[in-house]
Order: sequence, then structure tokens, then C-alpha cells
Amino acid sequence: MAKINSNYDKLSAGYLFPEISRRVKVYSEKNPGIEILRLGVGNTTEALPSEIIKGLHASVDKLSNVKTYTGYGDEQGNKNLREAIVSYYKDLGAEILPDEVFVSDGAKCDVANIQSIFSNECKVAVQDPAYPVYVDTNVIAGRTGKNTGVTYDGLVYMGCNLENNFFPSLPTEKVDLIYICSPNNPTGAVATREQLKEFVDYAIKNKSVIIFDAAYNEFISDSTLPKTIYVIPGAKECAIEINSFSKSAGFTGVRLGWSIVPKNCVCEDASIGKLNSMWNRRQTTMFNGASNIVQDGGVAALSKEGLKECKEIIEYYMENSRIIKKGLEEKGLKVVSGGVNAPYLWVKTPNGMKSWDLFDKMLTEAHVVITPGSGFGPSGEGYFRVSAFGHRENVIKAVESIKNNLKL
Ligand code: PLP
Repeated sequence: MAKINSNYDKLSAGYLFPEISRRVKVYSEKNPGIEILRLGVGNTTEALPSEIIKGLHASVDKLSNVKTYTGYGDEQGNKNLREAIVSYYKDLGAEILPDEVFVSDGAKCDVANIQSIFSNECKVAVQDPAYPVYVDTNVIAGRTGKNTGVTYDGLVYMGCNLENNFFPSLPTEKVDLIYICSPNNPTGAVATREQLKEFVDYAIKNKSVIIFDAAYNEFISDSTLPKTIYVIPGAKECAIEINSFSKSAGFTGVRLGWSIVPKNCVCEDASIGKLNSMWNRRQTTMFNGASNIVQDGGVAALSKEGLKECKEIIEYYMENSRIIKKGLEEKGLKVVSGGVNAPYLWVKTPNGMKSWDLFDKMLTEAHVVITPGSGFGPSGEGYFRVSAFGHRENVIKAVESIKNNLKL
């Protein structure tokens, strides 16, 4: 008799983005002809730069010739891409070995799957608010108790708020797996070296592991802020880093990411090399490698010219961010975090409104879609996230509509 994984029943009814789509659909059906302006999802919109296109094309051409054709590659990623990632880290000031790099078809799967190499007894701590995948995958794995409607029993929520400038203090109880995302989705807050050092020291002392999500690191323009946790002394002993080509190189639809599992990364019952070999086992058992075409695109993205072109696109989104920030502030809304070294702006709802009420108000009055903060965790209530990804003209239209039509 087959039985289901009943942990799925603990999950909150709707994942945030399907619920947003549902509400937009209902509104559009009732109000045909109204143009919906989107500042909601973190989806890239600008065309891939020429260096990446060249890399992708050349890779397709290689497949057309029997002499250069390739089939399955290494599950861990093609050698030249892993070396390009190693050299990317070197430029950031971190020493990574090629066999510490695991290429994937995007950060979401790695973020979701990495917990599977840890015991179900691990106590999990997440930033609150946070990218929902950290929580939901641990719920599915059975590392939490019941859903109280706002939180899950057994999870440690590290509150990010105005008082701590949207980066959490260390947990007051002992935790085993700590998820940190910097620049953070949704708050756009970026951890300083000192803040990360505190967590690294905590993790080493408690034999905990930090899962560091650096998917937005290329949006950091302030050179004093760390783009990788591995510039922090000791981080290779306690941190796994996950990154993506999605936001930095426009690969949201192309799909490519990577994880770094350092050989020296250890925990309570894993000595040197163990976590690295377990992730290797996991990937070789359950993953057959990212597309060879896409991996060649990744190599092009990490080339000198590729990085330069990608930076220009990032700068385009960051100009959107400045336009949004200025417009919201002119309207009297408070942008409390983000938008400077990150493509997200974290905004206080006016007059103490609930996040979803503000969502509905934005949709019906300004026809603008934002993301309700409460969808990212209990501390997100009373805030909303605005995304700087979008075509300039649409961003300007949305900001103007908020300024002209939102009734405060
Ligand atoms: N991590 C964070 C914090 C994200 O916001 C996202 C996507 O929005 C991802 C990971 C997933 O990235 P990918 O497109 O590589 O799966």
C-alpha cells in the first residue's frame, strides 16, 4: 500500500507567486482592457549580451559535427566551466578547488536539494523574511512540526527588521543548518564582512553549516561588501555557497547555477571531505549534468568580455531601481532596505496596512503588481517587495501609475 509524504500537507496552501497570478487573473478577467504593470517577480527581461550568444551558438555548432559532438558530460560540470568558476572566485579573493565546484541547472534545485545530505534531526534557522524555498524544502523533508498558519513549529526564524538593519542577530539557541542569502531576497539587504564573520564563528563553534545563497552577488557595487562568503576567514570550514547565472547573466530561462562544497567543510559527524563526497554522490546519483550548450554559455558569461557585458545589464536594472526608489519616495512611501546593492526594494506598507491588502490596493488602484512581504515569512508582514527587473518603459509607467493613482 503506497502512502504519500504527508509533510506536503503541512505546506501553506499556495506558493506565493501562484497566489499572485491567481489574484491578477481574477482582476484582469473582471476588468478586461486594463493594462497590468508588473513590479512583482524577479524575472530578467533584457536580451543576452553578444558574448554569451556567441558562446551558445558556437556550442550548438559543435553538436552539428561528429568530431566535436559531445553527449553526457561530467555530472559535476564541464571542466572548463568549473575552472572558469574557480578563476571567478580567485578574482573575488577566494581560493576554491575545481572539485569543490558542482555545476547545476540553477540555484533553486541546489538550494532545495542540499538539505538532503543532512540529518532530519538538524535544527534549521532561516532569515525572516526569506526566499520561500529554504523553508518549504525543509518542511517537505520533515524537519519541521506543524504549520501554525504563520510559522512552522521547530524552525528558527531569525528576524530581519528595521532595528537590525535587516540582517539578523545570531540565534539564541543552538541551530545546525543556517540559511543566509546576501544580497537578500526579498529585503535587498547585504551582509557586511563583520556580520558574516559573526555567523562563521558561530557555525565553527557549534559545528553548524551555513548555506549561503549568493544568487544576487553581482548586484553588489560597494567594494567593501563581500560577494562570496569565502572571503571570510574560516568560511570554507563551515559554509556551502550556492550561486546562479540567472540574475547576473540573464539565464533565468537558460538555466545554470553552481554550488561550492568545500572539502574542509565539516559538521558534527562529518570529517574533512565527507560533505563534499556526499554531495558528489547525490549529484552523480540524481543529476546528469547541465546542458552542454548552456555550460558553454556560462563559460562565455564568465569571460572578461562576458562579465563586462553582464555588468552593463546589471547597471540597467540598477537604474530601474533608482527610478523606482525615487518615485516611491516622492509618493511618500518608505523604502526601508535594498535597491542599492540589490535588485529588490523593501518597502513599508502605508498606514499599517497588511501586505496582501496593499497588494490588492496596488492592483485595483494603480494596476501595479508588487509582491506582498508576508509571503516571505512572518517578519515580512507590513512590507512589500518591488523588483527592479523589467523594461525601462514599463518600470517608468508603473512608477507613474503608483504616483498618480494610488490613494494614500
Ligand atoms: N536563490 C534566490 C535567493 C533566488 O531569489 C532565486 C530566484 O529567484 C534562486 C535562488 C533561484 O535561482 P535559479 O534561477 O538559478 O534557480
